[in-house]
Amino acid sequence: MSSHLFPTYNRADVAFVRGEGSYLYAEDGTRYLDLGAGIAVNAFGHANPRLVAALTAQAQQLWHVSNLYRVPGQESLSRKLTDATFADVVFFTNSGTEAVELALKTARRYQFVSGHPERFHIVSFTGAFHGRSYGAVNATGNDKYLEGFGPKMEGFDHVPVDDLDALNAVIGPQTGALIIEPLQGEAGVHAVKPEFLRALRRICDEKGLVLIFDEIQTGVGRTGKFFAHEWIGVTPDIMTVAKGIGGGFPLGAVLATAEAAKGMTPGTHGTTYGGNPLAMAVGNEAIDMVLSPGFLEHVNKVANYMHQQLGSLVAGHPGIFDSVRGQGLMIGLKMKVPSGEFIAKARANGVVVLPAGDNVVRLLPPLTITEDEVREGIALMEMTASQMESHKEAAQ
Ligand SMILES: *Cc1c(COP(=O)(O)O)cnc(C)c1O
Repeated sequence: MSSHLFPTYNRADVAFVRGEGSYLYAEDGTRYLDLGAGIAVNAFGHANPRLVAALTAQAQQLWHVSNLYRVPGQESLSRKLTDATFADVVFFTNSGTEAVELALKTARRYQFVSGHPERFHIVSFTGAFHGRSYGAVNATGNDKYLEGFGPKMEGFDHVPVDDLDALNAVIGPQTGALIIEPLQGEAGVHAVKPEFLRALRRICDEKGLVLIFDEIQTGVGRTGKFFAHEWIGVTPDIMTVAKGIGGGFPLGAVLATAEAAKGMTPGTHGTTYGGNPLAMAVGNEAIDMVLSPGFLEHVNKVANYMHQQLGSLVAGHPGIFDSVRGQGLMIGLKMKVPSGEFIAKARANGVVVLPAGDNVVRLLPPLTITEDEVREGIALMEMTASQMESHKEAAQ
């Protein structure tokens, strides 16, 4: 392994060099079923022919022009996104963190141009993950991610999720916006109560606060709806999107109502790469696929099957698994054994699964996964669980 990289990741000693559909291939040719999809990114599987065609066609035309000029791909993709959501306007970024950063800036500018420059406080919730730049990591509020990076930024308040009393106690004359993931990913696929999300909408309306949903992980079909908030019937004022929207090409977006974005006038924000023609070629194709008839039906059908199968897996190995949770193809297996051990052994058996907080194994397969592939994945996890059980017995 190279020692010329920042050692910020404890990397597994495997290098994938090729992918096709739901499968990855390592340097030595070993095939793995991919139930992680690059952390909810490869939503259409690896080397999806439509995405490959869109990207290579664009690569032969024009890579980059800068946002000093019109970019037709941005015009078409923003129209598709606003037609299909609550939003009126879109800004394209290169990553999720950048989208969060802009969402926070947009919310503060909204309060500023509305005559409330004092309302710069952002409220976020325990267990949140919003990214690693200064604004995003302060919204994340995880002390482990903040230690050693200087004083915590002013203007970020954190309250326990699902706790309205705590929220009401924190909201004051300086509060400007709330940010939350409708289903928390990094926290261990932790569901937020629908009543709580509806209450957030009510509170924001009453007090003139901006509601931001971070749908970077939950969006673009992951939970079986285009965006997860559609399940609960409340819409945010601003939403962050990334991961699945680029299918593996770096792409993020901020979606907002015209009202919430009214402070973002010329010169208030910018990006060199965001929304460049390569990203737009892929993003346009990706959104066409998600919104095509039958796509989300497939996600819901295969997800129901997977939840059912995982239920049996968990019931059959009560010493290994505690429970299944999540929605659609965003699934958590709460473990009774250390999740890291299960993940390493599962990989040795040929299936890639992901870690998350709360000792959860996270499953975020390509949305294009088939029932046969799900069956194969369950069998490989079953084998892994059995091996860990016999190991436990031998140790007793
Ligand atoms: C991954 C993620 C981010 C950060 O996105 P990056 O592309 O890694 O910058 C922010 N919020 C949520 C909910 C995420 O899952």
